[in-house]
Amino acid sequence: MSAAVDISILDARIQRELFERYRDMMHKAVDAFVEVLAGDLVSDKKMTLMEITRAIAKAEPKFLTTAVEEFIRSKHGDILSLEQAQCPCCKKKVQRSVQAPRTIETLLGTSTVTRPYFYCGPCKCGFFPADAALGLSPRRKQDDLQKLALEFLADLPFERASELFLKSTGISFSDHQMHDLFAQFSEGATVEEVIPSAEEIERRIDEVKSKGKRRPVLVAATDGAHTPTRPRGEGRGEKWGPGEYKEAKGFRLYLLDSDRIVHIASWHQVCSAEELGQALKAAAARIPQQKVRPCLVGDGAPWLWNVMRQAFPGAREVLDYYHCSEHVHALADAQYADDPQKAFLWVESTMARLSHKGEVGAVIGGLKRMQPANDTAKECIRKIVNYLNVNKERFNYHGARRGGYAIGSGGIESANKFICHVRVKRSGAWWLVSNCNNMLKLRCALVNGTFEHMFDNHATREKAKRFSRNA
Ligand SMILES: [Zn+2]
Repeated sequence: MSAAVDISILDARIQRELFERYRDMMHKAVDAFVEVLAGDLVSDKKMTLMEITRAIAKAEPKFLTTAVEEFIRSKHGDILSLEQAQCPCCKKKVQRSVQAPRTIETLLGTSTVTRPYFYCGPCKCGFFPADAALGLSPRRKQDDLQKLALEFLADLPFERASELFLKSTGISFSDHQMHDLFAQFSEGATVEEVIPSAEEIERRIDEVKSKGKRRPVLVAATDGAHTPTRPRGEGRGEKWGPGEYKEAKGFRLYLLDSDRIVHIASWHQVCSAEELGQALKAAAARIPQQKVRPCLVGDGAPWLWNVMRQAFPGAREVLDYYHCSEHVHALADAQYADDPQKAFLWVESTMARLSHKGEVGAVIGGLKRMQPANDTAKECIRKIVNYLNVNKERFNYHGARRGGYAIGSGGIESANKFICHVRVKRSGAWWLVSNCNNMLKLRCALVNGTFEHMFDNHATREKAKRFSRNA
């Protein structure tokens, strides 16, 4: 009992001493900081705000470096001065080999940590216990900088991201380093990480549910977007092969909360319909389907209905209203080319009839009886009859609206635009499929709110890799 008391008194005294030491060091650092500014402070020269902030920013790094380095020394003094440590492989005690300095960069600038290095001869295993205690990244640029760089490059071309990174943080992060980080981060990322967890999805559903009386409508929508890709060149000296547009297939899951959309998850990849189907199934498995009313929205592409039906069997199916009306408009323009008024009325009445259950057959009958005004109209009729036949069960817009379901695919189209187009389709950009898919994963993660968690996983993986390499 008395021994425990003694230890706690001793601990308190050591802590007090550490605190006093840190305070002394920082007082000195402040003095040095002010000293650097002394010239500007006492000179007669008038200074604008910009000149003042620049002068302070120039003096600041040294101060912050001291703040960080001394803090580490105070907090981890025991581990930094270790003379013996346990080998992680054979668990035997090993004597310290050397004290090895290491330079690290964080948002607060460049610091040096001098920490003990141990080497177990029989195991051929070298290790730094302090690196693990501090959670150091094997990269010189630490986690905070990496995270910020990823967010920059998710929105900007690599070169521009690198430029702005330097301007805003004062730290150089080359586009080459960014590329490397990006590839490491995204390649290891899986759809399971990019889609929010079952708990998080349920939380979002419960939030919407608590406001309304009915179960909220969960919309699953799929769509494709053309992305500019090109392969690596095959011939010598050829960097790139010929450009080709490939379809990035994607889905978005969201809840309808009166006139608001509550985002659940987006996933886009240049991949096969089967691969997209697998991803959608993985997402669907995390949704408590008894808590929502699932509704599938898409255009006429059959691959997409197969994929959605497999993930959400028995869900309500709605053909995108606007997509449907485009087909109807195309026929009206061809058939009544010289009478816009008539074309307008025909579109109106056709869409109104399609909106009511059981009217699709009558519309198809009417189309079949229609005398085509020209060859274009004839072709339009053939197409639209086929389209209506295939999607017969997916109109009933009237009923869908009454039930609070979605009738348009605006939700997926805006996701397509926001996730794919704005970054992947920048003018002059051509992507290797792997890079394009990596970028889509990163952008989906940011939109889905899973980026932070994914970054932690990535950082843990990199640290584990480094450790196993050492071992
Ligand atoms: Zn060993």
